[in-house]
Amino acid sequence: MVKSNYEYIKEIKEYATLNKIPIMQQEGIDFLTTFIIKNQIKNVLEIGTAIGYSAIMMTMCSMSLKVTTIERDEVRYLEALKNIKKLNLEDRITLIFNDALNTRIEGKYDLIFTDAAKGQNIKFFELFEKNLNEGGFIITDNMYFHGLVHQNEKEIKNRNVRGIVRKIKNYITFLKNNEDYNTTIYDIGDGIAVSEKKAKGGS
Ligand code: SAH
Ligand code: MG
Repeated sequence: MVKSNYEYIKEIKEYATLNKIPIMQQEGIDFLTTFIIKNQIKNVLEIGTAIGYSAIMMTMCSMSLKVTTIERDEVRYLEALKNIKKLNLEDRITLIFNDALNTRIEGKYDLIFTDAAKGQNIKFFELFEKNLNEGGFIITDNMYFHGLVHQNEKEIKNRNVRGIVRKIKNYITFLKNNEDYNTTIYDIGDGIAVSEKKAKGGS
């Protein structure tokens, strides 16, 4: 029996649950794919592939979309490679096995989707914004960090977690103060920030 794409995707989600891999929630995927269609996004640079789930979902929502995606964990990278092959998306998804912070990308993208280490968002932004087209978007997932961003910091007992929460708050301030972008944070999934690069020039 040949498996359908639907069955493959179901298996990918099950693998993620079983192995505690934080793939995007359904609500977030719906938002992302609708966004891609509405804004006629042609190519995406994703930071944080995990096992390829979001890259696959994005690619499948639009016939001509191409995704380049970076993952530093070898086990996840290999799993992503396998999943992309199963769905016959090798010619539309380019996987890069590396730490994004040590990766230099050529070319320009309509959308940069940041879904990697939550404390590194400013670094990712500064490193990859040169790869963004005029009028393009940077979308960042997990702006609420499982709701913890809205919690009283004193109640967060784990020091590392408190550090990440602080960095996400700094990132929010960074985005709000960044005059080259208009940023909106949507109350969807675990919080999704959309930063639109303003067109240059004008009056
Ligand atoms: N976008 C995926 C989920 C990504 S989970 C989906 O929704 O399907 C976040 C991933 O980012 C993890 O697999 C982690 O290994 C990876 N990651 C974290 N920091 C990274 C970095 N600096 N470079 C590359 N990958 C990174
Ligand atoms: Mg995420």
